Amino acid sequence: MDLIINNLSKTYPNGVKALDNISLTIPTGMFGLLGPNGAGKSTLMRTIATLQEPDSGSINLDDIDVLVHKHELRKVLGYLPQEFGVYPSVSAIDLLNHMAVLKGVSNGKERKELVLALLERVNLYDHRKKAVSGYSGGMKQRFGIAQALIGNPKLIIVDEPTAGLDPGERNRFYNLLSEIGENVIVILSTHIVDDVKELCSNMAIINDGKLLYNGTPLAATNALEGKIWEKVISKNELPQYQKDFTVISTKLVTGKPLIHVLNENDPGNGFKRVPVNLEDVFFTNIMGHVESLIEA
Ligand code: ADP
Repeated sequence: MDLIINNLSKTYPNGVKALDNISLTIPTGMFGLLGPNGAGKSTLMRTIATLQEPDSGSINLDDIDVLVHKHELRKVLGYLPQEFGVYPSVSAIDLLNHMAVLKGVSNGKERKELVLALLERVNLYDHRKKAVSGYSGGMKQRFGIAQALIGNPKLIIVDEPTAGLDPGERNRFYNLLSEIGENVIVILSTHIVDDVKELCSNMAIINDGKLLYNGTPLAATNALEGKIWEKVISKNELPQYQKDFTVISTKLVTGKPLIHVLNENDPGNGFKRVPVNLEDVFFTNIMGHVESLIEA
């Protein structure tokens, strides 16, 4: 099964080009869509989920022409949006039951079994009678996965699922995502490089609505192997280094900037060659936006 996106473009009425001629083939398995805030990820996710129209282009999931047969796509889609809005103060079990009704699971007995099995699966069974509105961020996200799994979806979209989770919650969420069947397409949209590193066999990087990379995380890091150099400098040296070298990232390590630069050969000057990580790939691809991403 493949999701095939061809020449997808979208310009909002305010003139922002959120998708700029994106073509992408997404195979079965976990696919990471990586990009900084404002890159166009949610626009792409909402378009695939048939919640908004592109200006041009096409999307096909096997034989479903997604933009034409929206209803067909929705039958096989599980979607965890970036913002769920406010959860009502009803128990997880009642809310999930209600969502299953909306998704067309009409047989009461079957629905009850499904709801309990899903709550078990996302490890919320013991909290099933508590109101979702009182759940922690991580529990809400796991509940979000439970509702996305109603109806055995073939395509699952999770938009920025780990933003705001603490490390423990994030780990539990990773484990849950990685257990989701191998025979479905899971698109994980995120600005957090670790999400992709931990989970995804294939990935794309987008920025300013444009596709910058599509391939495996390994091929992406291999392409830069031997070209990433690091050095701890003092803060006041940073502007000069930024002038002299292609500084792709700056991180504070015990109060001092640790810079990574992209250079074909040894820049000398005390730089040390380091193994390439996915963050280097990300920053190299989106260069020019490094400043705004340091906190990510
Ligand atoms: P991401 O999910 O990667 O953060 P988005 O798809 O939300 O990116 O946004 C891409 C760009 O489109 C941003 O510049 C954003 O401000 C703009 N944008 C998103 N939604 C709208 C909208 N409804 N109207 C106008 N501009 C929008």
